[in-house]
Amino acid sequence: MRTAERDIVALGIAIASLILFVGTGGTIMPEIVRATMGMGMAKAPDVLLTNAVLLNIALLIFGWRRYKDLNREIAERRKAETLAHELASRDPLTGCLNRRSGVPAIDLLLHEAEKRRHAVAVLMLDLDNFKQINDLNGHAMGDRVLREITARLVELLPQGAVVARIGGDEFVCALSYDPGHGERIDRLADELVAAASRPIEENGLRVEVTVSIGIASSCGEDGTPLGSGSDVLVHHADIAMYHAKKRGRNRHFWFEERMESELRHRAELEAGIRRGIPAGEFVPYFEQQIDLASGELVGFEMLARWHSPRFGLVTPEVFIPIAEEIDVIADLSETLVRQALREARNWNPALTLSINISPLQLRDPWFAQKLLRLLLDADFPPSRLEIEITESCLHENVGAVRTTVTSLKNQGIRISLDDFGTGYSSLSQLRTLPFDRLKIDRSFVAELAKDPTTHELVEAIISLGRGLSLPVTAEGVETPAILEMLRSMGQLKGQGYLYGQPEDSTTTRERLKNLNLLAGESPAPAAETDRERRAG
Ligand code: C2E
Ligand code: CA
Ligand code: CA
Repeated sequence: MRTAERDIVALGIAIASLILFVGTGGTIMPEIVRATMGMGMAKAPDVLLTNAVLLNIALLIFGWRRYKDLNREIAERRKAETLAHELASRDPLTGCLNRRSGVPAIDLLLHEAEKRRHAVAVLMLDLDNFKQINDLNGHAMGDRVLREITARLVELLPQGAVVARIGGDEFVCALSYDPGHGERIDRLADELVAAASRPIEENGLRVEVTVSIGIASSCGEDGTPLGSGSDVLVHHADIAMYHAKKRGRNRHFWFEERMESELRHRAELEAGIRRGIPAGEFVPYFEQQIDLASGELVGFEMLARWHSPRFGLVTPEVFIPIAEEIDVIADLSETLVRQALREARNWNPALTLSINISPLQLRDPWFAQKLLRLLLDADFPPSRLEIEITESCLHENVGAVRTTVTSLKNQGIRISLDDFGTGYSSLSQLRTLPFDRLKIDRSFVAELAKDPTTHELVEAIISLGRGLSLPVTAEGVETPAILEMLRSMGQLKGQGYLYGQPEDSTTTRERLKNLNLLAGESPAPAAETDRERRAG
């Protein structure tokens, strides 16, 4: 029998016995009382009736007791159910709502706000460096951070606001506001960002977190409801949060339509890159490197190009940073270097090949081995290879970079410092790595003709190279006038549009054929190393 039914039966027994008691007890009770008190002329009560009344009383007590017991049982069960529900809808660590309960709570808020012609702002908060804190300080500290951040959020949010933890370090907050005063939400978001960044201390440890916030509103700026449900608002707030991360974190952004299309574009690029690497869509182009004094071609710099079926010919400035971010730069670089080495085997052996290497690749302790493997596979002499690394390598983990660079150099590979002048490397940093060459960034070279101060800067870089015994390459040589100025400044190599745009393998090979510079053909130009040895 179900509880409710048992409940009713017990109550029924109690009521029935009560009615019975009132009916029979009314006549028999006074007789019993009189008999028991020994009043002389009283006639003895009917034994059967007396027993019936006593049974009736027993039933009454039993029914009542049973009814009370059942009630208590039900109350306990209800309490347990409420607790279970609470546990299912609460995040056990922080005590705020969880993903499952957060969304309906926002729906409820939306519903109530609509009735009062209010807007609802949904804020997506994501801690910027939580993983690092967990990794460096342990999970106990991570938990402490999450609880503390929750407490700070709750303190700043108005009463009735929704706070839910929907992921490891992701929170959704929602609150209603007067749509004519969006600036209040801006202020709140600023306060939340500031509050989160206050240091958190525990057991002598002190950590600092920052948060990025995306905001979506249920109403337009003029207060008209947009009709979006909680799921859409959370999604939009998430997109705006992602945008805030991209723009340097520790800040907030309101959702805008264009963010969604940017994100879609970005997702398409990412998917395209992942697909394009094994599909062979990334190919090397080659830019001539010239000895400025003699005008002789001495080698090529390999520059990546993407023949994307979706986007056409894409430049590396678009796809290299993404490939780095989604961690496919090593695979991408490998397919490019493989192709470039194979192609360069067709060239006159005196021509060098320069390749650009991402700082991320240099962090891989196996990078040198991997590169040597590629050289071996292509049967390409390491002495013809030059790698270009940017100054940003000097700022992170110089120890590991030095190990890699040293083993590359031991194999005869040369190292150039690329884009020199843009990365603020100090002289001492410059000396920490055994570079073979400096490449002056093209932004300085292009300015040469216009701005006399860059003239001095370029001269200073060249004399710095001389002081450090590092030969210098000037990038971005675009005009004969610039060429003349550079020539007057010293013994340089150069490259730039004056000599031609980067070209694909076939075009490069044709160029070399016309110059009699394919493998096995003569005359070969003096190898750069020879010439430099003679010059030095
Ligand atoms: P970078 O190494 O500084 O390469 C030189 C860039 O300047 C190339 O752009 C080249 O096309 C361009 N350039 C050459 N001459 C001139 C000129 O006279 N004037 C102007 N305005 N520009 C000139 P690109 O090919 O778009 O490459 C951009 C950057 O992408 C490269 O800069 C390099 O840092 C990176 N990159 C290219 N290929 C790879 C690669 O395979 N791996 C990695 N990690 N990075 C690459
Ligand atoms: Ca370069
Ligand atoms: Ca460069």
